[in-house]
Amino acid sequence: MTDRKPRPRPVQHKPAENGSKTPCPYAARCGGCSRVHIPYGEQLKMKQSAVEKLLAGVCKVEPILGMADPWHYRSKVHAVIGTDFRTKQPIAGVYQRGTHRVVPVQGCLIEDPRADRIIRTIVEMIPKWKLRIYNENTHRGFLRHVMVRTGQKTDQIMVILVATASEFPGGKAFVQELTGKHPEITTVVLNVNQKETSMVLGTRDIPLFGPGYMEDELCGKRFRISPQSFYQVNARQTEVLYRTAIDFANLTGAETLLDAYCGTGTIGLCASDRVKQLIGVELNADAVRDAKVNARLNQVANADFICEDAGRFMVKMARENLPLDVLIMDPPRSGSDERFLRSVLTCRPKTIVYVSCNPETLARDARFLVKGGYKAVKAVPVDMFPHTEHCECVMLFQLS
Ligand code: SAH
Repeated sequence: MTDRKPRPRPVQHKPAENGSKTPCPYAARCGGCSRVHIPYGEQLKMKQSAVEKLLAGVCKVEPILGMADPWHYRSKVHAVIGTDFRTKQPIAGVYQRGTHRVVPVQGCLIEDPRADRIIRTIVEMIPKWKLRIYNENTHRGFLRHVMVRTGQKTDQIMVILVATASEFPGGKAFVQELTGKHPEITTVVLNVNQKETSMVLGTRDIPLFGPGYMEDELCGKRFRISPQSFYQVNARQTEVLYRTAIDFANLTGAETLLDAYCGTGTIGLCASDRVKQLIGVELNADAVRDAKVNARLNQVANADFICEDAGRFMVKMARENLPLDVLIMDPPRSGSDERFLRSVLTCRPKTIVYVSCNPETLARDARFLVKGGYKAVKAVPVDMFPHTEHCECVMLFQLS
C-alpha cells in the first residue's frame, strides 16, 4: 500500500435513538437488512460473539472493526423494475422475499443515495420513452433491472440497464436525457439478459455512453471495474479490510505472494509494493482482464494474473514445486475447496491470510489447515455489511 495509515481501532457506538424500532419502512418485506431494528453497537456484539463461537478452540478473535457511520455504504445498487399491481405505474425496488412481486423502495438506508436518485429518474422516464417493463411471469417485456455502481473516491458512476434485447430503439436519446438530468453519470451500459433466470446480469455488455466501465481508488491505487467484475460493495470499509489483511501478511519485500480468488486484483495490487512477486488467480475472465489493466494503471511490474479455477492452479503450483511464501485467499461464500486446501498444505507457504465473507466456511477451512500443520494465530471480524447478518473476517495462519 502506498498510504500507510495505522490500523483503525474498533469504533465505540452509541445505541440508536430509536431503540429497537426499525428505522426502515421496507424492512419486513425487503428482508435485506434483517438487523436494522437492532442498535448498531448491539449488532457488532452479535457478530463478534457469532465469530467467537464458530472459531472456538481454533484461535482468539480480536474485537470487530465496525463503521463509524454505518449508513448508505453500498456502492452497488440493484433495483428490479416492475409494475405497481394497483396503479399499473412503473416502480423500482426489490422482490418481496420468496415472491416475484416487486416492493417499491425509495431512500434505502444502506445504499448510496446518488444511485437512488438515478433509479428514480429512470423510473419516471419509462412512460415517456414507452419502455416495456419485463414481466417475470410471462417473460415478456424489455427492461428488467437497473444497476448503479458508484466510485467512492472517484465519484464515477456506472449505470447498467439490464434488458432482454441488444436493440434499444431510441436508446441514444434516452441516455442523452438521463445523463442530461444526471451529469454525474460517467458511463451507461446495456446488459443483455434474455434468460429466465434469477441472475441479474446476462453475459453481454454494450456501452451506450462513456467507456463501459468505471474506476475507483482503494489504498492509494486505482482500479477499473467492469459491469461483470466483482468489487466489494462497501468501499469505505474495504480499505479497513485490505489494510488488516496486508498487515497480517507481514510482508518484507522479499516474498512471492499469491492472491487467490483475486477478483480485479485489488488486494494483491494494494500489497504489490511490499512483495517481490505477485501472482493473482481468478475464475472470472472479465475480472482477470480488469486485474491486468489495473496492474498497468498503477505501474505495477511485478504482477501476473491468471484466469483459472483457484483449486486447479494450486494443484499445479504444488506439482511443479513453485515457490510460495505468502498466500492471501478471499474465496466466495462457499469457502475454498479441498483440492485447493490440500495443495496449500503441499506448497506450505509460511503465512496464510484468509479473508472470508462467511465465518461458517472459514471455520471449516481453518480446521482443515490447522489439522494440516498450520497455527491459527488470530482472527478479526470486519463489519462490511452493517444491518445485515453477514460478517467478513480476516484470519492469520502460520506454519507451526
Ligand atoms: N479478492 C477480491 C474478490 C473476492 S470475491 C476482492 O476483494 O475484490 C471472490 C472472487 O472469487 C470472485 O471474484 C469470484 O469470481 C472468484 N471465484 C469464485 N470461484 C472461484 C474459483 N473456483 N477459482 C477462482 N476464483 C473464483
